[in-house]
Amino acid sequence: MKHLELKNFRCFFLQIHKGIVIIFEAIKINVSTVASRMQRLTIYNSLTNKKELFEPLKKGYVGMYVCGPTVYSNVHLGNVRTFMSFDMIYRYLLHLGYKVRYVRNITDAGHLTDDSEEDKISTKARLEKLEPMEIVHKYTVDFHNILQKFNFLSPSIEPTATGHIVEQIKAIETIIDNGLAYEVNGSVYFDVLKYNETENYGILSRRKIEDAIENTRVLDGQSDKKNPQDFALWKKAEPEHIQRWDSPWSVGFPGWHLECTVMSTKYLGEEFDIHGGGMDLKFPHHECEIAQAQACNQVNPVRYWMHGNMLTLDGKKMSKSTGNNILPNEIFTGENEKLSKAFSPGVIRFFMMQAHYRSILNFSNDAILAAEKGFNRLMDAIKLLDTLEASANSSIDLLNWKENCYNAMNDDFNTPILIANLFEAVKYINLISIGKESLTAEELNEFKIIVRSFVFDVLGLETELEKTSNSDKLDGVVELLIQLRNEARENKNWGLSDQIRDELITLGIQLKDGKDGTTFSVN
Ligand code: AMP
Ligand code: ZN
Repeated sequence: MKHLELKNFRCFFLQIHKGIVIIFEAIKINVSTVASRMQRLTIYNSLTNKKELFEPLKKGYVGMYVCGPTVYSNVHLGNVRTFMSFDMIYRYLLHLGYKVRYVRNITDAGHLTDDSEEDKISTKARLEKLEPMEIVHKYTVDFHNILQKFNFLSPSIEPTATGHIVEQIKAIETIIDNGLAYEVNGSVYFDVLKYNETENYGILSRRKIEDAIENTRVLDGQSDKKNPQDFALWKKAEPEHIQRWDSPWSVGFPGWHLECTVMSTKYLGEEFDIHGGGMDLKFPHHECEIAQAQACNQVNPVRYWMHGNMLTLDGKKMSKSTGNNILPNEIFTGENEKLSKAFSPGVIRFFMMQAHYRSILNFSNDAILAAEKGFNRLMDAIKLLDTLEASANSSIDLLNWKENCYNAMNDDFNTPILIANLFEAVKYINLISIGKESLTAEELNEFKIIVRSFVFDVLGLETELEKTSNSDKLDGVVELLIQLRNEARENKNWGLSDQIRDELITLGIQLKDGKDGTTFSVN
């Protein structure tokens, strides 16, 4: 019995060893070509409105900042699209071998609503009779849960606006010292006209200064501004405003645009490689970010500005404020009158990846049904891929197919073309399985690795089956270790039993001994 379990245990480690060998083989295949592929990546730069060869500031390293959500309500599918586009971009940069520092912030203060001087989080907190931080926590948790369901990678840093008030105050002081901001009645505004005397306000959005009026409505505090184009760096808090901090000018709160300038420069430097967000953030948010960074550091902060296009519903932009949106959970349950049934996160991810990130994408039940068919066809082929057998000769031009996949992604992350190439692979897989096409052992191995890495690592697709079977496997492995630990304890082999417990802890798995036996939780 004991021998059998030890054998199982060995088997498990042999499996892991096999996995590691496959990974090393994949690395071996990639190493020789990665460097040349890195050199061919082109990115559409919204600053110059053209595709440019991507040349990071530091060879082999990428700094990328993406504006995160304002956590005052559930993320809708439109928000998910933008974040998913950058998740795919992050994944491909990693796949190419770049070391990426990916910063995506959480806006938990300062994002003003269009029709009042209050920020969105404070307004929601008042409406729901909750602490602002309760609102922030509730919707940050929702954001993370949703992203996890869609199989997002975690960014390297997820800084919050409220965690960087000191830095924001410092930045305002610098901008005032540099003569580009002024204080009125406890609030501080950026002097757009003055800035525009020497710099170009409108460099990104290409708006003329006279058109660049942030809000057309006359807001309460707007009379404080010298010019309507000016924007708030610091707002004095009205008595009912809950989120408030001390500053040299008043008890108040920072303007929304400032947090991204401060957090991007803090974690990525005064000049960094990529800044992303949805198209709708280009103006005023990103235009203001450039102006603030120039005013602080006299450097144009971002080398490649990237903007994702909008997800629409019935031809109109999905949006929180108009209510024209669908929530991810409505899709997973099918509980929305626009849907004929529930859809899995994998299908939605596939649907989004079928469009280029710079194209408008319209959401409809029919489009998702079609995506589901395509997704299932791809996943069926991947299952078949594992069973394929090698031949003595090869009838497929594998090199050409592989280059087509890389060319697609190197052409400004063209996922629809990549997917077309993956369906070419589906054709090959089906033909190999019935003996009408063939690959040699070495090529078949490479083919399997490349298909899987584009589907799973780059596009981030994941089948429901795979998700459950992975967690089943984990359950099985931990149960096995618990059993071995129990036997070690019975034999008074405390060293081994402690070792199993401690090593599981380092993997984030906590064993709990109770009267009904040992259970475990995964952190
Ligand atoms: P917010 O929480 O409103 O700041 O938005 C978070 C992100 O979602 C921003 O990058 C927006 O550009 C993006 N976004 C908002 N609506 C849509 C939409 N309909 N389609 C794609 N992205 C969107
Ligand atoms: Zn931002």
